[in-house]
Amino acid sequence: MQQLEAERADEARREELRSSLKAVRARISAAVSASGRTEAPQLIVVTKYFPASDVLALTELGVSDVGENREQEAGPKAHAVAEAGAHPRWHFIGQLQSNKASRVLRFASEVHSVDRGSLVSALDRATRRRAEEAESSGAPTPEPLGCYLQVDLRDAADRQAAAGPSRGGAGPADLARLADQVAATPWLALRGLMAVAPLGEEPRAAFDRLAALSSVLTADHPEAGEISAGMSSDLEAAVAAGATRLRIGSDVLGRRPALG
Ligand SMILES: *Cc1c(COP(=O)(O)O)cnc(C)c1O
Repeated sequence: MQQLEAERADEARREELRSSLKAVRARISAAVSASGRTEAPQLIVVTKYFPASDVLALTELGVSDVGENREQEAGPKAHAVAEAGAHPRWHFIGQLQSNKASRVLRFASEVHSVDRGSLVSALDRATRRRAEEAESSGAPTPEPLGCYLQVDLRDAADRQAAAGPSRGGAGPADLARLADQVAATPWLALRGLMAVAPLGEEPRAAFDRLAALSSVLTADHPEAGEISAGMSSDLEAAVAAGATRLRIGSDVLGRRPALG
């Protein structure tokens, strides 16, 4: 009896995810058409606060990329999902302490929150060590870790006054130096830029600044043209401004129990 109820609950959750995912995909398609773009951005479903069973259900619904923002939560979740036989690409999108770099490497293929030189150094050391260990044990050579530089899009005055909590990110003036630092490492691959729209501003204006910074970056690093921007509330603005990666959580999975 209890098992039957559990199966019904599972099935109900799966239906819920199927329909919310369908609605989000429809919004993305509409935004792509409206902006006259030909290529759709890649959808990363942000599964933070939700269980491994939801990630499994999403992979069955065709989701290939998932995002998480806390290493302590994501590590075990990624492990459980792999044990169940599913292998989505994991994107780490949260603020990252340098001493957690090697833990994040265990599951993530991409880190969207690279925002300071000390973190690049830590990721460089961790990926070198991983490559050396693979080589000495005869394991397959690991893929380089994809890196996005996270930009703080608040204007300089707001940054100075620290108006509101920082949501992470390097100032625009630091991007060139960070990009060169990533590009000089053997096992980090510079993918592009990431940002969260600042509070209290039209997201479109902020995402247009991000696109302009991306053009500057790709002049020196043509391989780094990805733009990770757009969440549930502002995906249309991000698509219009040229985002190539969308990070969508609540509109697929539902409201999170707490802020995050
Ligand atoms: C949680 C989170 C998202 C997803 O936000 P939603 O509003 O739930 O779509 C995207 N990016 C980052 C960095 C996040 O922390």
